[in-house]
Amino acid sequence: MSIAQNIAAFEQQLAGTSARLVVVTKTHPVERLREAYAAGARRFGENRVQEMAAKQPELPPDVEWHQIGQLQTNKVKYLASFVHTVESVDSLRLLQELDKQAARYERVINGLLQFHIAQEETKSGLSLPEAEQILQSAEYAALRHVRLTGVMGIATNSPDEALVRGEFRQLRAHYEFLKKTYFATADDFREISMGMSADYQWAIDEGSTLIRVGSAIFGARG
Ligand SMILES: *Cc1c(COP(=O)(O)O)cnc(C)c1O
Repeated sequence: MSIAQNIAAFEQQLAGTSARLVVVTKTHPVERLREAYAAGARRFGENRVQEMAAKQPELPPDVEWHQIGQLQTNKVKYLASFVHTVESVDSLRLLQELDKQAARYERVINGLLQFHIAQEETKSGLSLPEAEQILQSAEYAALRHVRLTGVMGIATNSPDEALVRGEFRQLRAHYEFLKKTYFATADDFREISMGMSADYQWAIDEGSTLIRVGSAIFGARG
């Protein structure tokens, strides 16, 4: 199957669900991103800042670039002029730096609060109390150039359906709680980014609005 056929198959599967596709393009050369774009893909996810910054000028300007990997504050300046959504917001400090750098370009960057939902220690993200501490702070209330639009999580890499679904359900519960407690009147707060090549089907069932898919479209990364 070609990239175009794979993307068409995903779009068909997503029709009628709440989920949209983020094509995870990390490690792939620009020609393959162009192929994905030609097939209709408009949301691209990268996890390395320099790689995304190098690819961005090579693609049309209507691509929504999503930063999906951990983001160090000293790298924010390289993506602030164009990034659409930083899916890996894990600190107030990062939000403040995003705000500061976005202000220089008079734009607003979207952010998703990344939660730690997996059993693996290696996967990063906030706990619910940590997220609430950010949302209740005066520093957060002062930000004007960054807008939280939802939550993101990475489930345990496991074939155990009950385990993985339980983690997605947990993330959705965090989303629902934050929505009602802090974002009840914010229409923009509506994203639950969950599901990758191995588990997107379960994620869609559990209410994902953004699935992040790489290898199921491009094949295994080299
Ligand atoms: C690489 C990556 C993906 C995509 O993984 P695949 O298994 O190739 O679909 C999704 N989310 C994050 C955060 C990633 O780093």
